[in-house]
Amino acid sequence: MHPVTVSLERAERADMPFTPPVECPICRETLALDRTLEDHLVGSHTQREVARRLAAVRERAEVRSVSD
Ligand SMILES: [Zn+2]
Repeated sequence: MHPVTVSLERAERADMPFTPPVECPICRETLALDRTLEDHLVGSHTQREVARRLAAVRERAEVRSVSD
């Protein structure tokens, strides 16, 4: 995250509805405002990387729900 950069972009795009920056859950990269997470995942990550990440999130959620 680069808060300064984000706030500058936000000011420049004051005429557009503000969309919060999306951070890729795999590489932690903040996506450009005109890119979707889906585009980024398809273009920058392999199917295996995405699958592994989804599996990890699911495992954590299951562990948490059990411990609660
Ligand atoms: Zn990424």
